[in-house]
Amino acid sequence: MSEYRPITERLRDFRPVELRLNEAAFRKELARCQDCGIPFCHAAGCPLGNLIPEINSNASSGRLARALGRLLETNPFPEFTGRVCPALCEGSCVQGLHEAPVPARLAELEVIERGFAQGLIRRRAPKAALDLSVGIIGSGPAGLAAASALSRAGATVTVYEKDARAGGFLRYGIPDFKLEKEVIDRRLELMMAEGVNFICGVEAGLDISERLLRKRHEVIILAIGARKKRDLPIPGRDLKGIHFAADYLSAQNRVNGGEEMALPPDLNAFGRKVAVIGGGDTGSDCIGTAWRQGAVEVSQFEIMPKPPAGRAPDNPWPQWPRTLRTSSSHEEGGIRRWNISTLEFLPDRSSPERLGSLKALEVKWLEEGGRLIRPVPREGSEFIVEADLVLLAMGFTGPEPGHLTRARDLKADSSGRLAPGLYAAGDAANGPSLVVRAISDGLKVAGTVLEDCRTDRRSLGQAV
Ligand SMILES: Cc1cc2nc3c(=O)[nH]c(=O)nc-3n(C[C@H](O)[C@H](O)[C@H](O)COP(=O)(O)OP(=O)(O)OC[C@H]3O[C@@H](n4cnc5c(N)ncnc54)[C@H](O)[C@@H]3O)c2cc1C
Repeated sequence: MSEYRPITERLRDFRPVELRLNEAAFRKELARCQDCGIPFCHAAGCPLGNLIPEINSNASSGRLARALGRLLETNPFPEFTGRVCPALCEGSCVQGLHEAPVPARLAELEVIERGFAQGLIRRRAPKAALDLSVGIIGSGPAGLAAASALSRAGATVTVYEKDARAGGFLRYGIPDFKLEKEVIDRRLELMMAEGVNFICGVEAGLDISERLLRKRHEVIILAIGARKKRDLPIPGRDLKGIHFAADYLSAQNRVNGGEEMALPPDLNAFGRKVAVIGGGDTGSDCIGTAWRQGAVEVSQFEIMPKPPAGRAPDNPWPQWPRTLRTSSSHEEGGIRRWNISTLEFLPDRSSPERLGSLKALEVKWLEEGGRLIRPVPREGSEFIVEADLVLLAMGFTGPEPGHLTRARDLKADSSGRLAPGLYAAGDAANGPSLVVRAISDGLKVAGTVLEDCRTDRRSLGQAV
């Protein structure tokens, strides 16, 4: 359903690539929503439980304020999910059984953006103050969702963020061409007006001790993300020119945001041959960024098999379709290969400390009981690809080791509790996932805090 700006135009800047629905498309698409008796989109698809049929029917009949009211009941930040959510809801849309699903994500974006444009989004003051001080460590979507919910419930909330600005991967991971950062700033201003305190450039556990945090706040929520990067320890890994995708993307976002004047030269793809290792969304973001920086060649290698074009028999509706996805960045060019395992990074002949190429081979996957268990090399399939910039986009393995995580398991119980007064939310607690899941988890943990505060106030604040 998505429509994008023309490739030649969009490659010249980092502005958003996706076009908004126009009025006619908005009405036409929403009118396709069946208002199903059992709406799988909200019951099975959306982690936030967005009331999609109600939002759609109100929006399509011109009742924007009502649509907005229903949307904000479950989702505090539709302007983020409306831009970057993979829209799990659309995978379970009944219309998707025989034609394109109703574009619930784009509809959500229209509802919230029209709400902002028409002045319908205002600060919400709590009904009464709650005598509870909460410190939230980390300002990604999980921390922001918990902060917003607790502050609206009347708690005094301070968010500590080690980066210079708040937003987590919304700001420093996801490229501007998918999520322009003014959208984050607009939300942060609203949250500050509602009373949330942000202290940025402060690493909790290092610049401020855990002991001091516990003195200041009865409740601490760790929303520090899962940012330990998966490495590829193969021969040649220490050659110059091999970087983690997250570092590469965040460098460009810092330049776009005016935090840095220029890219570090080694993180600039201009004039270079780029190989992205990892076939997921982060890898795709690297492709779009590399083209915009002026790369001459971009390839993406994924070790898993190419997904099918349509649903496999073991992946029926209303499950999320595990099918081939082509992002706006993929459309912009480059080579995509699957079943590829990288064996070795090779030096450049004229400067042997630098990367010149990589050696890889094709694999086939052994299956057991319908599951892929192990890749085995395809004999004689070795090949060499010239590359002077490699970006490792192979995901994250858990929270980054640091002062707060040392000697602590962040495996919270199902409600987010780690210890009395101490909670974990988002990717930090559940592993790397999605913005929508981080928001949902932040809200859940805020609910747990309020419940604990009501039922057993004395147990809060005794953990450390
Ligand atoms: C490149 C990239 C693209 C992505 N694209 C999408 C997408 O299109 N759609 C989607 O749904 N998801 C996407 N994701 C995933 C999504 O961004 C994450 O799942 C989500 O941001 C997790 O939210 P979080 O709040 O748990 O953690 P994070 O967003 O990681 O935020 C954690 C925050 O905690 C801070 N922090 C850590 N330790 C400390 C400390 N000791 N003191 C103070 N602050 C600390 C960090 O600096 C950070 O700001 C993407 C991720 C990446 C990396």
